[in-house]
Amino acid sequence: MVAINFSVFKDKVLSGKKRQTIRLCKCEYKVDSDSLKVTRLKKCRWHSLKKGDKLHLFWRQRRKDCEKLLEATCERVYSIHMGFKRDENEEYGTYWVKYQGKRLSDAAIGRLARRDGFKNSYELFRWFDAQYCLNKPKEFRVISWV
Ligand SMILES: [Zn+2]
Repeated sequence: MVAINFSVFKDKVLSGKKRQTIRLCKCEYKVDSDSLKVTRLKKCRWHSLKKGDKLHLFWRQRRKDCEKLLEATCERVYSIHMGFKRDENEEYGTYWVKYQGKRLSDAAIGRLARRDGFKNSYELFRWFDAQYCLNKPKEFRVISWV
C-alpha cells in the first residue's frame, strides 16, 4: 500500500475527474567525479511504485482535518522532466515538458495538465514552478490510477 497525500483538487479526486498526480522524484544520486557516471543510491517512493500497486489517497494527511478520500490501483507510472528556459535576448521564457528526452507539444502538455486537474498548462506550470522552482529542470513521476 502506498499513501498519496493531496492538498488541492479534493473534489476532482473524489469524483474521479482527476485520476493522475505528478510528484517530484526524490531519488538520491551519486556522480563519480572522474567518469561522471551517475549511480542511484536510493530509489524514491515514486520510483518504487509500479502498476497494480494499491494506493490510498488522502486529503491533508497528518493534519487535524485529515481524510481518506479513496483506495485505488496504480494503472501507470512514468517519468517526465519539467523546466523553464529563457534566452538572454528573450523577453519571456518558455516552460517545457520532456518525455523520454523529447519535448511534448503544447497540445500534449495541455492534456497532461487537464488530466491532473488544472484548467490548462499555464496553471500547471504556475503551480509546479511555485512549488519546485523549474529554473533548474527536475524529474517528476506521473502516476495514474483506476
Ligand atoms: Zn525517483
